[in-house]
Amino acid sequence: MAFEITARDPGSRARAGVLRTAHGDIHTPAFVPLATKGFVRGVAPAEVAALGYEMVLGNTFHLWLAPGHALVAQLGGLHGFMGWSGPIISDSGGFQVFSMGHGTVADEIKGRAPSGAVRAGAVLAVDEHGVRFRSYLDGTEHELTPELAMEIQAALGSDIALVLDECTPFHIAREETDRSTERTHRWLDRCLRWHADHRPSTQLVYGIVQGGVYEDLRRASTSAVAATGCDGIAIGGSLGRDKEQMHEVVGWATAELDREHDERPRHLLGIGEIDDLIAGVQLGIDTFDCAMPTRLGRHGMALVPDPEARWRVNLQGARWRESTEPIMAGCPCPACGAGHTRGWLRHLLHQAEPLAGRLLTLHNLAFVARVMEDLRSGIAAGRLQEVAQALQAGASPGGL
Ligand SMILES: [Zn+2]
Repeated sequence: MAFEITARDPGSRARAGVLRTAHGDIHTPAFVPLATKGFVRGVAPAEVAALGYEMVLGNTFHLWLAPGHALVAQLGGLHGFMGWSGPIISDSGGFQVFSMGHGTVADEIKGRAPSGAVRAGAVLAVDEHGVRFRSYLDGTEHELTPELAMEIQAALGSDIALVLDECTPFHIAREETDRSTERTHRWLDRCLRWHADHRPSTQLVYGIVQGGVYEDLRRASTSAVAATGCDGIAIGGSLGRDKEQMHEVVGWATAELDREHDERPRHLLGIGEIDDLIAGVQLGIDTFDCAMPTRLGRHGMALVPDPEARWRVNLQGARWRESTEPIMAGCPCPACGAGHTRGWLRHLLHQAEPLAGRLLTLHNLAFVARVMEDLRSGIAAGRLQEVAQALQAGASPGGL
């Protein structure tokens, strides 16, 4: 058994556990920082580990296009390539491919979109076989199939692979969502078949629940994914127009899993704002990944215990010009721990000094790590509701 549940919260669906992989254990619930292209932007893998993180997430789509999975395999797999000895989960690339086609191009892609003669990436066709698209890097055509997504992840050597899913935009009709979800289930079977035939040693495989914002489709998709032999269950796709709907949609999936007494690990894809982490844990999610803490840091935003301001402060603001305050009192991160002031960090930001993004990324990751630590220990001590309420009321994370 790869996952052991060690404690359950009597007042919610939350659970704490240990997820065992070939490269070590992950204590859950846990947040997983993004190493999308084989690096966590701005910070060294050892610094991520020093903040208490046990797993990072690499992306199949990006690593396939650059530098290519064959080269990553040649250079020691993703672990050896990026110098991360702990567990790695790899996203299948479904979201990245399909977000090109929906006009809501993910920021990470947009940032690299070529200008001028070469057109930015686009989905050319989706059919039963797979998805054909034009690369955002050089305009060349590629096809990603369920089998290829698994082959790439086997070459990357990730500890947890995700199956290829079709991601639909939020606003599409029920009928189209239904058709797409059914295709995702067929792709799941093909992914699992490829994995069984090639058995990349110790790699675990997570299926992905789709079904959009339709309760019956979400529940049916959860049931269909759970009926397969996948090692864990990820929740993906459109989760709704706002937080309220997102929590409802996630709740349908975890309620369905609880009803079936499913004890496999559960991952929520692409969600990681502080209030969503708290709600997700209470809904029975074990791991989360999100660009939020690292992306905010690169844009001059620091996480602080201020729920009214969505737990963030813009350090570029003029009000910090003469500030001698740290980002957050009592924070042990390399920025706050060294006594760096908001006034100085604002200056770095205005000088476009990369050190600012680096220090804010470290601070934000430290903040999220402490929130997750508090939630984990809250579950273990049987006082999750108290911890969640304190965080929601603006308490500083760390030792709550
Ligand atoms: Zn800090």
